[in-house]
Amino acid sequence: VGLRGEQGKAPKRVVLISGGVGGARMARGLAEVLPSDVLSVVVNVGDDLRAYGLAVSPDLDTVLYTLAGIEGPHGWGIAGDTYSAMERLSEAGLDTEFKIGDKDLVTNLVRTAALDRGETLSQATVALGAAMGVEVQVFPATDAPVKTKVAITGGEWLDFQDYFVIRGNRDDVTDLRFDGAESASPAPGVVEAISAAEAVVIAPSNPPLSVWPVLAIPGIRSAIEAAPRVVGVSPLFGGVALKGPAHRVMKSLGLPPGNLGVLAAYQGLLSDLVIDVGDGTERDTLAGQVKLHITDIRMPDLASSARLARSVLEIL
Ligand code: GDP
Ligand code: CA
Repeated sequence: VGLRGEQGKAPKRVVLISGGVGGARMARGLAEVLPSDVLSVVVNVGDDLRAYGLAVSPDLDTVLYTLAGIEGPHGWGIAGDTYSAMERLSEAGLDTEFKIGDKDLVTNLVRTAALDRGETLSQATVALGAAMGVEVQVFPATDAPVKTKVAITGGEWLDFQDYFVIRGNRDDVTDLRFDGAESASPAPGVVEAISAAEAVVIAPSNPPLSVWPVLAIPGIRSAIEAAPRVVGVSPLFGGVALKGPAHRVMKSLGLPPGNLGVLAAYQGLLSDLVIDVGDGTERDTLAGQVKLHITDIRMPDLASSARLARSVLEIL
């Protein structure tokens, strides 16, 4: 039984704020249990880069692929993709440390062609989503370029993918910058969607690396602050990210450990926080600061994503 049918209640309008893999898993769950016209996903573009002459938007593509059900085994890229183009590029003498699969490359070719024709990133994203059969509205946070820069011990500033992919996100992150964010406008429809929403869900994405660059765009954070409910879903289990550096980055940026750190990362933005059943002992530290909800927040497959999405909708 879909939510639509439950006691004839109209489904709540929900906007999901998302990074890549963690956000995409939450997105597919919400898309499974909500009609497509009440769900919008606003995606980080701070990781976007030019590679091989192409406009690459890793988080947007992870969300689109996951919503289309074609994501790769680790949550990014396309399932069963091959790397012939990378091999050929390498033979041609190019640096192929940042790898893009053959099918994934096509997405980036299509996007780059659209941008070169003068289309916006939003328009390119709509077209890509439609071609993949994605019905949910997926917005880039902005059509303007925003570049996440990462300061590491010693003070050196790195491009995001240099830190994340090339250096394997092993460095201690001492500071972050979101170049271009201050002068960026939210993509068309983003503020409207947030303002019309009964709830904003902050996905279990990396808070500093994936969500802060979205909140840094003027107008987005203030629109979220005005939402009736802002529900954060934790990316941490026992204080540690399932994959990637979220807990390490949070620590080196001076945030408290565990879900207290998640709460602190959003500086009063959350009305509700959903944490894992395994972290019930954090209840006392979090009590009184936020409406706390404890459930299984692992989403290894579509069914678990949908189950968590239902739990989130139930608390609204
Ligand atoms: P990226 O842009 O691909 O690095 O991905 P995100 O920033 O969106 O998500 C990274 C975070 O997702 C990590 O901190 C993980 O702990 C979290 N994550 C991944 N899978 C799951 C899951 O199944 N459940 C929850 N709650 N978090 C997850
Ligand atoms: Ca990302």
